[in-house]
Amino acid sequence: MEQTKKVSLTMKVVFGMILGITIGLAINLSGLNVIGSFTNTYIVDGAFYVIGKMFVNALKMLVVPLVFFSLICGVCGIGNIKTLGRVGSKSFLLYMLTTAIAIAMAISLAATVGIGEGMALESTSQFSANVAPPLTDVFISIIPTNPVKAMANGDMLPLIFYSILAGISMLMVGRKASRLIEAAEVANEVMMKMVTIVMSVAPYAVFALIAKAIAELGLDLLSQLAGYVMVLFSALMLHLFITLMIVLKVFSGLSPSIFIKKIRDAQVFAFSTASSNATIPVTLRTVIERMGVNNSIASFTVPFGATINMDGTAIMQGVATVFIANIYGVDLGITGYLTVIVMSVLASIGTAGVPGVGLIMLSMVFAQVGLPIEGIGLILGVDRLMDMIRTAVNVSGDAVVSTIVAKSEGKLDMTTYANPNAGLINVDEGLHINEAFELELANTLKKTHDQS
Ligand code: ASP
Repeated sequence: MEQTKKVSLTMKVVFGMILGITIGLAINLSGLNVIGSFTNTYIVDGAFYVIGKMFVNALKMLVVPLVFFSLICGVCGIGNIKTLGRVGSKSFLLYMLTTAIAIAMAISLAATVGIGEGMALESTSQFSANVAPPLTDVFISIIPTNPVKAMANGDMLPLIFYSILAGISMLMVGRKASRLIEAAEVANEVMMKMVTIVMSVAPYAVFALIAKAIAELGLDLLSQLAGYVMVLFSALMLHLFITLMIVLKVFSGLSPSIFIKKIRDAQVFAFSTASSNATIPVTLRTVIERMGVNNSIASFTVPFGATINMDGTAIMQGVATVFIANIYGVDLGITGYLTVIVMSVLASIGTAGVPGVGLIMLSMVFAQVGLPIEGIGLILGVDRLMDMIRTAVNVSGDAVVSTIVAKSEGKLDMTTYANPNAGLINVDEGLHINEAFELELANTLKKTHDQS
């Protein structure tokens, strides 16, 4: 009998990513991607753009219903309301702590290396600052005046608030609401299946997203800003592989090497979309099915983390501040850097995990410490690539905290965590329709129709 070796979806996605980098680089280096050319019109801004955008849309399409139903199930499954408060405070503190460590380490590293010192760079692009919302507004907007509007806008904090309140109220209504809770459980399962369906086309979509991003990258800028890019990249990797893994080990005792292997899906999706928000479905699936975190914890910690936790973004802000302060010859001093740390942590609370939001936060930080906002124009050219990398770090932080909180609450399935194959998507087996059931359903529907 012929033995066909099955390749896991993760491997196919990684393959798509590598191919995307290769083809993207080839297009970039060959100079074919000029505006108006065939390659630019039909391939990069044509096929790659359309496929990538459709895929990101498909991911975003899942976020709101998935968070809504999984949170209702989460609240109803958590046991009691006190636990909910405890899970909330633990994850909030851990998110803030990891972000503060991230930026402090980034500033120290960049200052030690002395990046930007003695450099005279002209700001090539104009950067106009968008403003991040003030903290008071962030707190007020946690409570939506209209939940449907919050859902339509994909506003995560009000959506989380409303879903938790709905879940708690269902518990309070008790027996009468049990059918509603059951319905939410089924809806949650259906949403998870939709995640699997969307993920199954990821190898092609990830290829298109990455090929487009790399084809458009300013490689000359990359070499001009090599110092900034290298320090930033090192700080991000240091945080991902050392700091976060130490935090995981210290707070939960779990094996970091298993974690690193299993988090890959979420990282690749975050890298290709540059959006923690769009990656929520994949992060949620990864921590629940690959790591063994119970839905009652993950349904809260993952969307919460996608909004308030941005370790990678904080690292970028730390490195960029030192870099630009050095270029402009500004000495921020200890107080200045402490302000940067506090501002970055606070700014991360109110801003959603979407592409490029880090720059908005950076302008807020610069305004606070008196650095010229135009300075941001200097790093704009490489920000897209840096955004992709830091988003992968952001979602890894979300997953680390989710896993730690679950372990501390006794809501981590250790068998799943230890099983290397747990939650792997097998496209051939996982995505089929049960034909017998389909026929049975069709007959039932036909009968009902004939009778009426
Ligand atoms: N793109 C990042 C995220 O979604 C935010 C940023 O750093 O711009 O997490």
